[in-house]
Amino acid sequence: MQISKIDKLKEIWSCIPEINCKKECSTLCKINHVFSLKVDNLLMKKDLQNQFVPLPNIYETLENGIDHKFHKSSSCCNCPYLENGLCSVYDVRPTICRLYGAMGECPYGCQPKHGSKFLTKDELLQIISDLKSIDPNDTTIAFFEEDVISYFDEDNNS
Ligand code: SF4
Ligand code: SF4
Repeated sequence: MQISKIDKLKEIWSCIPEINCKKECSTLCKINHVFSLKVDNLLMKKDLQNQFVPLPNIYETLENGIDHKFHKSSSCCNCPYLENGLCSVYDVRPTICRLYGAMGECPYGCQPKHGSKFLTKDELLQIISDLKSIDPNDTTIAFFEEDVISYFDEDNNS
């Protein structure tokens, strides 16, 4: 039996540590930080049906040379799924929302659950490679990979 793209995505999600979020902020839920992959959209559309709202994708925007108003200001625009400071689609939130916390970026010191660890650069790159294999035509993943590499390189140089 062929495994569906959605099943493969869920398998990848299972390798991302869950964070014990203290619900102190929604800093990373600003639309200019957030994007979804094509396969995220498949899963979200299936689950949310007519509640599904596609997120503007900063990487596609840049690739197409479009100066998207959502991405101009870091203080602008919450994610459409943010309700009263909390994610209203937590179980099906996009991959990037899972990865940010798992990279150890929380300013409130939230830690991974069950004694698991933040993702290392190699683990993250493996996840990205697995995402590419689901959908080699999603150029967003390659842009994201570049960002991840420079994020870890900057961290090592600081
Ligand atoms: S989908 Fe949820 S976790 Fe992701 S940015 Fe939107 S509100 Fe935040
Ligand atoms: S940054 Fe920390 S407190 Fe804020 S949503 Fe992420 S894990 Fe929770």
